[in-house]
Amino acid sequence: MSILVTGGAGYIGSHAAIELLKTGYDIVIVDNLSNSNLESLNRVKELTGKNFIFYKCDLLERDELNTIFENHSFEAVMHFAGLKAVGESVEVPLMYYHNNIAGTINLCELMAKHDVKKLVFSSSATVYGHPDSVPIDESFPLSATNPYGRTKLMIEEILRDLHISDSTWRIALLRYFNPIGAHESGSIGENPNGIPNNLMPYVTQVAIGKREKLSIFGNDYNTHDGTGVRDFIHVTDLVKGHLKALEYLEKNNGIEAFNLGTGRGYSVMDLINTFSSINKKEIPFQFVDRRPGDIGSCYANPTKAEKVLSWRAEKDLKDMCTDSWKWQTQNPNGYN
Ligand code: NAD
Ligand code: UDP
Repeated sequence: MSILVTGGAGYIGSHAAIELLKTGYDIVIVDNLSNSNLESLNRVKELTGKNFIFYKCDLLERDELNTIFENHSFEAVMHFAGLKAVGESVEVPLMYYHNNIAGTINLCELMAKHDVKKLVFSSSATVYGHPDSVPIDESFPLSATNPYGRTKLMIEEILRDLHISDSTWRIALLRYFNPIGAHESGSIGENPNGIPNNLMPYVTQVAIGKREKLSIFGNDYNTHDGTGVRDFIHVTDLVKGHLKALEYLEKNNGIEAFNLGTGRGYSVMDLINTFSSINKKEIPFQFVDRRPGDIGSCYANPTKAEKVLSWRAEKDLKDMCTDSWKWQTQNPNGYN
């Protein structure tokens, strides 16, 4: 019995692979390497001293995926595979709908065919759209503001319908807040292609001199210093939440959504100041206009995950800044 990890070569999937292997699970990874590099998996093997099977396979390649299901006996699936760049999703929405939604439907059809009905799905806090207030709990209304977010929302709905049709499915919808940081060794981390869209990889690339300065998108939000507030969560804490969700699905039927966040909001300026003081690196920045579609403040109420999954984030913003910087300095060009 093993766990199928889709998208396991990516940022979060590779950290999850480490945690699963460390805990004693057998894993099989499927990834089309569209946004990742095989080197991440070599490092997972080095760090854990454990081996696993990897298939370079696209979830859209149904026959290939079916053969993988035929060759293994999976206990559950952790489904990380998906495209995730908000801006790109606005430019090429059909690619996002096709990849994320059709890929998930293929996966679920094959899971049903092979009687594998435990699924941990990577959802996102983006499904809360523009929330009326913070902190956000799982009962807040759901909406989407861009095609990427809509794929997450649609997949959540598809999975709910699937569970209504067959209540033997066990599904955890994990709504991530803002994952940052890297494995404490510094040997795996986030490896963005081209200009980073997200804050932390941009900050580390400024710190190492690859980019001149950070543009801060807006300093007129209704927050303590005017810059956007987010619930940054260390990727290692985040993936631990996945193992707790897996344990939960072993004992419980149903479909449940869980926020994976720390419950604390930090502003863009808080992050920069913490990064600068802990790593002794100045981060040149300029204030520019708000980024269209951004919200001022977004942080989780993580009580449900604490109560139901017995999970809580342990690492703080300093750990996140230390580990992101360690990854960046040890790998100035990522895995390339
Ligand atoms: P990532 O791009 O590093 O990893 C995703 C992996 O999926 C990549 O290795 C990519 O090659 C693979 N992939 C994409 N489409 C595929 C397909 N059709 N078939 C096979 N493999 C495919 O992204 P990540 O940051 O590790 O995110 C993992 C998941 O978590 C994604 O579903 C993402 O939407 C979700 N998520 C991420 C964040 C974040 O800030 N990183 C926040 C919320 C949700
Ligand atoms: N941000 C910024 N400059 C950047 C990237 C991000 O000021 O180059 C801000 C962004 O406006 C938001 C916060 O940092 O307030 C987190 O943005 P990110 O893209 O990392 O995550 P998300 O928007 O998904 O919460």
